[in-house]
Formats: sequence, structure tokens, C-alpha cells
Amino acid sequence: MPLIVQKYGGTSVGDAEQIKRVAERVVATQAAGNKVCVVVSAMGHTTDALVELASQISAVPDSREMDMLLTAGERISMALLSMAINELGGRAISFTGSQAGIVTDTSHGRAKIIEVKADRVREALAEDRIAIVAGFQGVSTAFDVTTLGRGGSDASAVALAAALDADACEIWTDVEGVFTADPQVVPEARKLHAVSYEEMLEMAAGGAGVLMLRSVEYARNYGVKLHVRSTFTGAEGTWITEEDERMEQAIISGIAHDVSEAKVTVKGVPDHPGVASRVFRPLADEGVNIDMIVQNVSDDGKTDISFTLPKADLPRALPVLEQIRGNIGAEEIRTDDEIAKVSLVGAGMKSHPGVAADMFDALAGANINIEIISTSSIRVSCVIRAFEVERAVKVIHDRFQLSTEVIFRESHPETLTPKLKVVRAEDDR
Ligand code: ADP
Ligand code: ASP
Ligand code: MG
Repeated sequence: MPLIVQKYGGTSVGDAEQIKRVAERVVATQAAGNKVCVVVSAMGHTTDALVELASQISAVPDSREMDMLLTAGERISMALLSMAINELGGRAISFTGSQAGIVTDTSHGRAKIIEVKADRVREALAEDRIAIVAGFQGVSTAFDVTTLGRGGSDASAVALAAALDADACEIWTDVEGVFTADPQVVPEARKLHAVSYEEMLEMAAGGAGVLMLRSVEYARNYGVKLHVRSTFTGAEGTWITEEDERMEQAIISGIAHDVSEAKVTVKGVPDHPGVASRVFRPLADEGVNIDMIVQNVSDDGKTDISFTLPKADLPRALPVLEQIRGNIGAEEIRTDDEIAKVSLVGAGMKSHPGVAADMFDALAGANINIEIISTSSIRVSCVIRAFEVERAVKVIHDRFQLSTEVIFRESHPETLTPKLKVVRAEDDR
């Protein structure tokens, strides 16, 4: 019998009525001949509300206690969904992350899953029960409750799907799938039928919050097929799988943006061997995630190093940076949290020169200044001013005509003189 893992995000379980509708879908999925394991997020904005509540008590709450607090959100929805299913005559049983055997490391607030035992979930499924698991949480190797980072229920769902060898992992959310840009910013963005793991990884790393980055990493590592779809319409959504010939093979898949990072500049760094390592090693040891790095050409034996990091990591990074400044004899540390990152992602970039230039043209045409550029083989990212980010996403989306056209790669993507085939989106169904 096929086994399906379904994950319902906060907006899908926002109130009692929505929970009842989710319960109906879950029961119907089981009635259609599947074993069903459901992962739920906290209701609506519960997690944000709990974070805010903690901030009223403590400016820097203890991370263990913070995890105790935040995991309560998912516990509420798992119990309510289980009750709703039982009301419909189904047989459900809910589990916390710990009861479901989701074992993590000890990094509170951003724990990594290291093992999924899932014995109780397997037993429940074997008894034809519907297993409901609280997302976003696990238990550490030191037996404390942990959370997996914001958006972490996606990671719970994928990890369970891998452990249970599920036939599919469905991510039910408030949009119909993965779009060419955040549909809240570009209403005319186009839904993608399928995206490769590699492209989705770059989109998620670029800030496309529809899937948590780590969930895509797990999915790729364990070959879990993801189906992102809408709780409200139930329509076929977007498949995230290994790249294959059925995919659109578009040059560009989409644009992601991120306003959650800050920029740090270390000014007047002595330009000699070992300095970069003395800046970044202590930050790495503190668990600070560095994203883009630029170092300028030196002038009079001194240079500036700029980099981006999550705003949330700034409180931990700043004292370390002050120490680094003293150690290496740099002049000044400047922080700027009014930046945004906009990223263009597409596997076709590898073989189609000019994509980055077109992106820069679009930004230039809108008079948007680029402060940092970084690239991978299938992504170009630019740091710009935060207040310009929505305009930037729109002009790049327009420049590549992502809402109306799919520009296909050639069947031999390694060709250096590609012939582009342009097809209207409507013909591509
Ligand atoms: P959930 O509560 O279901 O986990 P999230 O808010 O985490 O939902 O993720 C869904 C949201 O992701 C959408 O409402 C949308 O605004 C945002 N999003 C960002 N980029 C994209 C994209 N490329 N495609 C679809 N949604 C996107
Ligand atoms: N409730 C958590 C959050 O808001 C986890 C999730 O929704 O995936 O980040
Ligand atoms: Mg989410």
C-alpha cells in the first residue's frame, strides 16, 4: 500500500474550521488506499506570537527554554488535528517530535536531524492508524527538546518521508506550488510544473520561503520526491525531483529574494596572508552562517572585507567581530541591516552566456545599485538596498518574461551556441 507523508503549514491549520478541512483531506487520502503520516505546523502565526511573548520576558531568552516554548505551538495543532480526524470516524494518533523518534544534535533553535527512529509511527501505520507528528521539533542527543529553525516542519516531513520510505512527500501550503517568484511580490508569477533539487536548493538558499533550505537538502540526499501544493484548491502543484527529460529544461526557473540578511564590513584590514582565516574562523566556531563575501583590492597594504549573514546571527557575531578587529588590527566594523539579496536561478545559465548581464541591465534600467554580486553555476545573486527589493524582483521577472514564456534549453545543454525555442506558457501544459 502506498505511503504518503503530508505536511500542513501554519496557514493550512490557522483555525478550527481549517483543521477540520485538513482532517477531511487526510481521511480521504487514507480512504483512497494510502497509509498516511501527517506533519503539522503551529496554527497561523502562533510561533511568531510565542517569540514575541518571550521577548517581553527576556531580551536574550535561554535557548533551551525557547525551544520548550516554541514546540508547544506544534503540539496544539497535532492534538487538534488528531481529534478532528477521530470526529470523522478516522483513527488518528499524535506524536511529538521526540515520540516520533526525531533525534537531533544539541544546537537549540537550529538543530540538525541526525536520526529518525520512527518506530511508533511505523507501528501506528501498521495498525492502519493515521500518524500525526508535530513538525519543527525533535529531541537532542542530550535528551532535551529542540527546534529545527524557522520553517522547520518542512524538514520534519522530508526526514520522516525518507525514514518511512514514503512514496511521496506532499507539502500543503497557501500557494499552488513553486512560482517563478514569490506570488505575493509578483502576482503574475507563473507556477512551475517541476523543479530539480539543485534549482530548488538555490531558490531556497536565495530566500524562497516556500520550502525550508534544509528540507530540500534532505530531499535531494535521500531522493524524496516533494510535491508542493495548495491546501485551498487541492490542484496539482509543483514536483521537486531529480532533473529529468520531462522537466521544462527552462534556462531560468525563477527569482528569489531575501530581506533577512545583514551586511558587515571590516574596514582597514591589513592585507597579508592568514587575515581572512582569522576573520572567518572565529565566526564559524560561533556557528555564524556567512553567505556572500567580497574583499576589495588593497590600497596602501589595507583592504575592506564585506560579507552577509542572517540578521538573527548578528547578536552572536558582533562581540566576536569586535575581538577580531582588535586581534587583526582592523580599523572599524560597520553593520548594515537595510540590505536585500535578489537571486536569479536557472540550470540553463551554465550554457547560456549573458544571463548575468541581462540581470544587471534590468537593475540598471531601474536605477538600482548593486553592492555585492555572487554567483554559482546556476545562480546570480545581488545585494541591493532593502527598500528596492520588490521593484528589483519585478523588473528582473519582466526582463526574462517569466510570467508568459518558457525559454527552453537545448536538448544538449553543453552547446555553446544555443538556439532558443520560445514557447508560450499556455502551450506548455
Ligand atoms: P507554510 O505556513 O505552509 O509553511 P510558508 O509561509 O512557509 O507556508 O511558505 C509559503 C509562502 O512562501 C507563500 O505564501 C509565498 O509568499 C512564499 N514564497 C516565496 N517564494 C515563493 C515562490 N517562489 N513560490 C511560491 N511561494 C513562494
Ligand atoms: N512553526 C514553525 C515556524 O513558524 C515551523 C514551521 O511552520 O515550519 O517557523
Ligand atoms: Mg513554511
